[in-house]
Amino acid sequence: MSDDLHTFQTEVREWLEHNCPEEMRSPMASEKDACWGGRNFTFQSEAQRLWLERMGARGWTAPDWPKEYGGGGLNREQLKILKQEMERINARPALYSFGISMLGPALLKYGNEEQKLTYLPPIIRGEIRWAQGYSEPNAGSDLANLQAPAVDMGDHYVLNGSKIWTSYGDFGDWMFCLVRTDPEAPKHQGISFMLFDMQTPGVSVQPIKLISGRSPFCEVFFENVRIPRDQQIGELNKGWSIAKYLLTHEREMISWAGLSTSGSKPLGETAVEIIGEAGGKLDDPFLRADIARFEADEMAFALTIERARDEVKAGVSLGAVSSWFKFFGTELNKQRYNLLMDINGSEALAWTGEASNDGKLARDWLRTKGNSIEGGTSEIQLNIVAKHILGLPG
Ligand SMILES: Cc1cc2nc3c(=O)[nH]c(=O)nc-3n(C[C@H](O)[C@H](O)[C@H](O)COP(=O)(O)OP(=O)(O)OC[C@H]3O[C@@H](n4cnc5c(N)ncnc54)[C@H](O)[C@@H]3O)c2cc1C
Repeated sequence: MSDDLHTFQTEVREWLEHNCPEEMRSPMASEKDACWGGRNFTFQSEAQRLWLERMGARGWTAPDWPKEYGGGGLNREQLKILKQEMERINARPALYSFGISMLGPALLKYGNEEQKLTYLPPIIRGEIRWAQGYSEPNAGSDLANLQAPAVDMGDHYVLNGSKIWTSYGDFGDWMFCLVRTDPEAPKHQGISFMLFDMQTPGVSVQPIKLISGRSPFCEVFFENVRIPRDQQIGELNKGWSIAKYLLTHEREMISWAGLSTSGSKPLGETAVEIIGEAGGKLDDPFLRADIARFEADEMAFALTIERARDEVKAGVSLGAVSSWFKFFGTELNKQRYNLLMDINGSEALAWTGEASNDGKLARDWLRTKGNSIEGGTSEIQLNIVAKHILGLPG
């Protein structure tokens, strides 16, 4: 490690020691511990609020975004060090944010200067929570079929129609949304990318209940919603390029589900604790083989992602590779939870009660089923891999 990096590491370590509250140095016990920020977010504790405030002020909720927009301005090596130092103390992410994982990269590439200065700093500080308005009842895999019409009225657009499967739509402050601005053009060429405050008159939100018993999904309806012209990102009718670029970031983010999170125990250790050992080995040869295979795949996947990130920093576009990551990462996460269910046996099916933390494992297991649908289904990712990576005929 160079002297500069070594100095940086020492500074990061000291800063984290002083600024990461003790309470934020343990794995999250439940979804409720995730900090999403936003106008109406209820912090679980003062420690959670402080952690977001401090990390946001330092720009470390978006460590590699440019400093002029409030980001941390870190390079690839510094970013790795920050990550390692956070893992070292089991620090939780200060902020979960679609603004950071999806909208921000698109704004950095396609937004004008004024839009970057307006929207990026509040995203970094976790002040605005964003919802993704892409899917419609007849536009999921065939996203370019979306219909919600936004009619040009000069200084503003008027939006009608609806969106579906909007994750946390009921908590969203603002929406980034794909709208149809030219109904006559071929479907990919009449789409624009717009942002609007979900408090705008004419926006209404209806939660949808899921198999896990929770309702993070919503249907969002638009009735003559006024969107000022300066909230359109990029060129009119060229929103499809932005949509696709954002999706590469969404898919990369979802693929991380395949990797174990900071502080979580390796599957092998969990299995030994619950099932026990015989002759120094997990006392179930079939499960042992499955876990070994899983852990080897997980390690290989983590290394592949690291390599791809280095390539991205060196200017190589991730493009269709994000589809492969999304496919593999989400399949890995499903395998992880299938194995956890095997390890825990029938107790894993508990749905309520303190002992099961209100059925956390069973609900998390069911939630993984959505991993290979959200952000584009596995079949669609494989189609993209076949066409754009393997060069097979479409
Ligand atoms: C947990 C979760 C969170 C989500 N969050 C959001 C959100 O915040 N915002 C948002 O806009 N959307 C969100 N979605 C919606 C998601 O993007 C869509 O569900 C997804 O794109 C699939 O679309 P669909 O549900 O309409 O299925 P369909 O497109 O109807 O697909 C049905 C089946 O047909 C298959 N299929 C379709 N076309 C092809 C093809 N050409 N080749 C092979 N197979 C095909 C699919 O793989 C799938 O198995 C979320 C979904 C989930 C599960």
